[in-house]
Amino acid sequence: MKPYKNKINRIRSFALSLIFIGFVIMYIGIFFRENQIVMTIFMFLGLIAILGSTGVYAWIGMLSTKAAQVVCPNCGKHTKVLGRVDMCMYCREPLTLDPTLEGQEFDQALNRKKS
Ligand SMILES: [Zn+2]
Repeated sequence: MKPYKNKINRIRSFALSLIFIGFVIMYIGIFFRENQIVMTIFMFLGLIAILGSTGVYAWIGMLSTKAAQVVCPNCGKHTKVLGRVDMCMYCREPLTLDPTLEGQEFDQALNRKKS
C-alpha cells in the first residue's frame, strides 16, 4: 500500500491536526498561568493555529469546487480528483483525468510534469 492519499483528504487531515495543535498549545498555556505574558503568547499562538486551520478549511472548500467529480471505477463511489492524478477518497484507487496517463504506475510526480 502506497502512502499516498487523496489530496483533498490529506489537506483535510492537515487542517484537523492544526486545530488539534492549536488546542494543545492553548492547553500548555494554562500551565503558565502565573506568567500572564507567556500565557498570552501561548493563547495567541494557539488561536493562530486554529484560525489557520479555518483558512485551510476554506481553501479545501474552494479546491473542492474546482476538483472534478468522478465515479470511482473500483468502488463506484463519487470522489473528487484534484490535479492530473489523484486517488479515490474511499478505496485509494489511482485515478487520472489524463487519458495518456491511463494504466501508468501511480506517481505523485505526474502532477508536476507539464505535457
Ligand atoms: Zn474508490
